Amino acid sequence: MVRPIVDAGTGEETWRAWPAPATWPVLDLAGPARTAPPLVVVPHPDDEVLGVGGLVAMLADGAGAEITVVTDGEASHPGSTVYAPAELAGIRRAETVTACGRLGVPASAVEHLGHPDGGIDEPALADALTARLTPGRWCVTTWRGDGHPDHEAVGRAAADACRRTGATLLEFPVWTWHWAEPDEPDVPWHRARRIDLTVAARSAKQAAIDAFHSQIRPLGPAPADAAILPPHVLARFTRPYETVFVP
Ligand SMILES: [Zn+2]
Repeated sequence: MVRPIVDAGTGEETWRAWPAPATWPVLDLAGPARTAPPLVVVPHPDDEVLGVGGLVAMLADGAGAEITVVTDGEASHPGSTVYAPAELAGIRRAETVTACGRLGVPASAVEHLGHPDGGIDEPALADALTARLTPGRWCVTTWRGDGHPDHEAVGRAAADACRRTGATLLEFPVWTWHWAEPDEPDVPWHRARRIDLTVAARSAKQAAIDAFHSQIRPLGPAPADAAILPPHVLARFTRPYETVFVP
């Protein structure tokens, strides 16, 4: 269900006070993730870092990870007085390459599909992912119920490709942390797995977040140029753990 992303959302202090995550099983990183690099598929440049940047950093000393970024995120600042959408697209591609580098992912393992931001071609994406996935390979992507239309479209296309190929779908929430509250009945917490991040992974993730200048800082003084990821939003992505939903 697509939900309006407005207001301040649920505060990180509320999530930190919630005891449930400590009871979730820990995701086993010893199996498929060590033999074939997981394919991380995200709608916008920065979702890979916000959602699973720590996981990606922790995989870097094994099989690594490959990153597929579906759009260039050129619609992040409609009406910007500083950048045209095409300029933002170039900036955001470059930011993701820098950020992924800080997670140990080389530029050659980062792919940009260039779908229109807000206009993802779901069948074409499902076909493209089907060509990249193999049985048992992890496909790590935004949750189909995340509340943002692009996040849900990418999750659906990835789920479709996993069904066709026998790959394993792991979905992560991004905007769910904004609109949901602890024990929210529409969120499949029973499928949640926790990824406990090492100190090194947490610092790599923070360094990667810092690469997204166009999102964490205002582009200029106009309201249309405000930061997309202000501190209260970023706070949700500095936890000592990450969350995925398993099939
Ligand atoms: Zn996004």
